[in-house]
Amino acid sequence: MAIDIQKIRKDFPILEEQVHGKPLVYFDNAATTQKPTQVIDEMVKYYYKYNSNIHRGVHYLSNKSTDGNENARKIVQKFINAEHLHEIIFTRGTTESVNLVANSFADKYISEGDEVIVSEMEHHSNIVPWQLVCEKKKAILKVLPFNDKGELLVDQLDALISDRTKIVAVNHISNSLGTINPIQKIIDIAHARGVKVLVDAAQSVQHVKIDVQEWDVDFLVFSGHKLYGPTGIGVLYGKEDLLNEMPPWQGGGEMIKEVRFEGTTFNELPFKFEAGTPNYIDAIGLGAAIEYVENIGLENIDAYEQELLAYATEKLSGIEGLRIYGTAEHKTSVISFLVDGIHFYDMGMLLDQMGIAVRTGTHCTEPVMQHFGIDGTVRASFSFYNTKEEIDALYKGILKVCKMFVH
Ligand code: PLP
Repeated sequence: MAIDIQKIRKDFPILEEQVHGKPLVYFDNAATTQKPTQVIDEMVKYYYKYNSNIHRGVHYLSNKSTDGNENARKIVQKFINAEHLHEIIFTRGTTESVNLVANSFADKYISEGDEVIVSEMEHHSNIVPWQLVCEKKKAILKVLPFNDKGELLVDQLDALISDRTKIVAVNHISNSLGTINPIQKIIDIAHARGVKVLVDAAQSVQHVKIDVQEWDVDFLVFSGHKLYGPTGIGVLYGKEDLLNEMPPWQGGGEMIKEVRFEGTTFNELPFKFEAGTPNYIDAIGLGAAIEYVENIGLENIDAYEQELLAYATEKLSGIEGLRIYGTAEHKTSVISFLVDGIHFYDMGMLLDQMGIAVRTGTHCTEPVMQHFGIDGTVRASFSFYNTKEEIDALYKGILKVCKMFVH
């Protein structure tokens, strides 16, 4: 099935908006995606008709909202093919999921002199939480580098792992380079040495199918808002035995079995890690978003976005003085670039005047910028609702900016 782009675009009312009197061209999808009416309507329906705090309620509304939340958990389980429903923990997003694992895993498994490995192309949210726990535990943070194309030097991983290495935390797809990392290979190398693996899938669940059992990954984290769902909801998948061994991270309601001043016992998975009133309306929205994406089909999405990437790469590469950062063989629909003599902020602001939304700066990956000796880039990231005509608009927009800068 090919993608019916015009039908899809109608599902996203925001794409009809004008910005500075120009039709909006939204190329900031790696930062957050737009939401289809199917997602917005489902959430509005719950607020209008069924809203009530979930779990342990005896009344109709509470049961409806509880069912909605737990149904969303089932949708996520199926989406990533987790073996057990209780391996799906709802969080605020990728950042909170990584913080949860870093703190709870470290409490149980990391001691002084142990090691954590991250890659050079991680988002700050998969670096800083590990740095913080390493500092606390007097553990060591090691870094797997990438080459100038933006490909991880996976062949160096085995040598980087030592008897003290406890976990490798790596992204599946880089948000600033677009690189698709060879996750299966990374997991196999780490597991052969008895090391656990956390995969940051914030930039991949919306582009490619993930099967956590096939990968045999220990932890997988992602955000709802980059997957056409609402903000404020995310997922932590963890293997049952690990999550059972790990201590709770946050205390409060929902996560307890019995509370006495002498001591508290904790709830079962997944609730042990879901302290406080859950963000159930957004979980329901995430469920609707996953169903929306699955209706189109991730294979169709991937094929179409690859077409957009190839088209845009060829067009932009033809612009004099334009350099693309991130030229890995396996890439997703992200193009980071700079044009000689033009600051990325100037480029971004002038494109904005033409209605074209791109992101500028470090993209929360300062080590990636340091690798290339630059302060930031302009990043255009494409979704299945984008078109080649919009890429033409970007191309013309960049040329126009270039002309303004000719002295
Ligand atoms: N990891 C990657 C690769 C990302 O691209 C992002 C966001 O851009 C994050 C983590 C953080 O996601 P969030 O801000 O939704 O927690």
